[in-house]
Amino acid sequence: MRELFEKYNINLNFEQEKLFEKYYELLIKYNSMFNLTAITEKRDVYIKHFIDSVLGVDKLISGKLIDIGSGGGFPALPIKIMRNDLSVTLLEATGKKCEFLNTVIKGLSLKGASVVNGRAETEAKTNLRESFDICTARAVARLNVLSEYCLPFVKTGGVFVAYKGGIEEELKEAERAIEILGGKIESVDYYSLEDAKRMIITVRKVKSTDKKYPRGNGKERKNPL
Ligand code: SAM
Repeated sequence: MRELFEKYNINLNFEQEKLFEKYYELLIKYNSMFNLTAITEKRDVYIKHFIDSVLGVDKLISGKLIDIGSGGGFPALPIKIMRNDLSVTLLEATGKKCEFLNTVIKGLSLKGASVVNGRAETEAKTNLRESFDICTARAVARLNVLSEYCLPFVKTGGVFVAYKGGIEEELKEAERAIEILGGKIESVDYYSLEDAKRMIITVRKVKSTDKKYPRGNGKERKNPL
């Protein structure tokens, strides 16, 4: 599968190749038990989960990363495999998925990776608030809602990185929310992944987020900023 990564200008070393193999095995082994992904064919998992998660990985700054709504570990665990310099926290609301994430971390002997079982709205009010250099999220919510979940975790000067399909309207729709939450859109990178259009939005945190965000009680989704 190394050649597949190379098609997207991602070079794997032997160790990284082995870690992705092991991750794939665990994903398939536990998928029915933990309901992790509808995609199971090996090539598809590599493209739609592994490679999708690491597009643009070299551009990430160093430091502490938190991933919101990690599910089966995407994008945080592939990022960790490629960027062992990052310390990674995976925040996931569903306990069973957290069990799987811990199984992968142990199975792959990843150091500097940990799992928090909780919701973004609640955890953003703990000492995790404004304590990360990077916050990532993929397939969790529309960008306006996601910004309210994610930006509170980012230190001023850090970045929120959203992995999205190429839907331009979401960007426009989220502009106001991003500004209210102390962010500024810094770049939008477009990728083609086989037939799919992918977009990585990088939002720089330019000022501290007001303590009243995230609002909680489902307000982020019911009444987006
Ligand atoms: N990020 C993974 C991916 O790209 O494959 C999983 C995507 S899955 C569709 C969304 C995940 O986000 C689910 O596992 C769900 O439990 C979690 N989630 C949704 N809202 C959340 C919240 N407010 N806080 C923490 N996790 C949340």
